[in-house]
Amino acid sequence: LPRTFAMIKPDIISSGREEEVLNGFNIAAQKKIHLTIDEAKSFYKEHEGKPFYETLTSWISSCSPIIALILEKEDAVQAWRQAIGPTNSIKAKEEAPDSIRAMFGTDGSLNAVHGSDSLESAEREINFFFSTPNGS
Ligand code: ATP
Repeated sequence: LPRTFAMIKPDIISSGREEEVLNGFNIAAQKKIHLTIDEAKSFYKEHEGKPFYETLTSWISSCSPIIALILEKEDAVQAWRQAIGPTNSIKAKEEAPDSIRAMFGTDGSLNAVHGSDSLESAEREINFFFSTPNGS
């Protein structure tokens, strides 16, 4: 099956409802990790210099761990993006009330989950989390 990369962000983890979002996806691998600030900055490198970069990377690395996942499903990248909804949870609540970001996120920053936006990003992000030197 095709796969994508998903991240469960600290806001849902602290709510204890992280299992609820994965309905309908097969979990090929998962890993709960506490990112360092450098890892967070590296993961979100494409946003370096943007006004939210510092807040985003310190949030992702400092509050609580995240869960990194490889999800499998027919048309996985598209299906997960569809399931999570718009980036901004406020917009998601208006436009896609059944989406994960509508149900579990708060705003444009605290938005519960991440999903790769293309097959190429999915492979890069899977490698980032699952090709560690210690092979875990
Ligand atoms: P993700 O990459 O997490 O799936 P996305 O692809 O929908 O989200 P991006 O534009 O790549 O959105 O932004 C990455 C993350 O940065 C968002 O998920 C959100 O947490 C944060 N972010 C994006 N835009 C803003 C903003 N304007 N203000 C605050 N935080 C933002």
